[in-house]
Amino acid sequence: MRLVIFGPPGAGKGTQAALLETRRGLVQIATGDIIRTAIQDETPVGQEAKAYVEEGELVPDEVVRRLAEEAIARENYDDFVLDGYPRTRQQAEWLTEFLVEEGAPLDAVVKLSVPDDVVVRRLSRRRVHKETGEIYHLDHDPPPEDVDSEHIVQREDDKPGTVRHRLHVYSEETQPLVEYFTQHGELVTVNGEGDIEEVYERITEVLDELRTPSAG
Ligand code: AMP
Repeated sequence: MRLVIFGPPGAGKGTQAALLETRRGLVQIATGDIIRTAIQDETPVGQEAKAYVEEGELVPDEVVRRLAEEAIARENYDDFVLDGYPRTRQQAEWLTEFLVEEGAPLDAVVKLSVPDDVVVRRLSRRRVHKETGEIYHLDHDPPPEDVDSEHIVQREDDKPGTVRHRLHVYSEETQPLVEYFTQHGELVTVNGEGDIEEVYERITEVLDELRTPSAG
C-alpha cells in the first residue's frame, strides 16, 4: 500500500506514520526526519536546509524532491507512508508523475484534521530525545524518569513564534493540496483529535474500507 499522511504541523502525522510502520509494515518516509539527520550530520543537503528549518520555512522543492524520491525508490515504490511530503503543489505534481511512471500510484492521501488551537497546544508541549528522536508530550506522554533530562529538548521550530509561522506556511502552501488530491480522488479526511489509539483506529478503518471497496 502506498500512502501519504497529510495535515498541519502537530496533527500527529509522525506518530500515526510510526504506528502504521510497526503495525502494518509500511515504511515511514518522513522528509522532516531525513532533513534533521542531514543537518546533524552536516551533509551538504543539511547545510543548505538548516536555516529554512530553523525559521519554519519550507526547504526548496528540488532538494526535498530528491530526498523523497530516493527514499521511495529504496522501498521499491511500495509499502510506504509518506509523512511530511508533499507540502507544495509542485511537490504533489512531481510525486504523482514519479509514481505513475513507475506504475505505482498512491492508494490514499489521509488528511488528519485538527484545529489550530489544538495544534499549538500540542507543539508547545512536545519534546524530543536528541539522541534517539523519541517524541514526548509533557502532559500526555512525559519522558520516563530514567531518561536523562539533559537529552530532552524542544525542537527549535516548536518555539511559539516559529510554530505560528509554520501554521501560516501550512495554510498558504500545503492546505491547497486538499483540492489537488480531492481532484485526483485520493483524499480521505480523518478527525485527528483525541488520543493516539482513537485516531489510529479511525485511520485503519478508512484503509480497510479502501481494500474492500465493494463492501457497503
Ligand atoms: P516536519 O518534521 O515534517 O515538521 O518537518 C520539519 C521541517 O523540515 C519543515 O518545517 C521544513 O522546513 C522541512 N521539510 C520537511 N518536509 C518538507 C517538504 N516536503 N518540503 C519542504 N520542507 C520540508
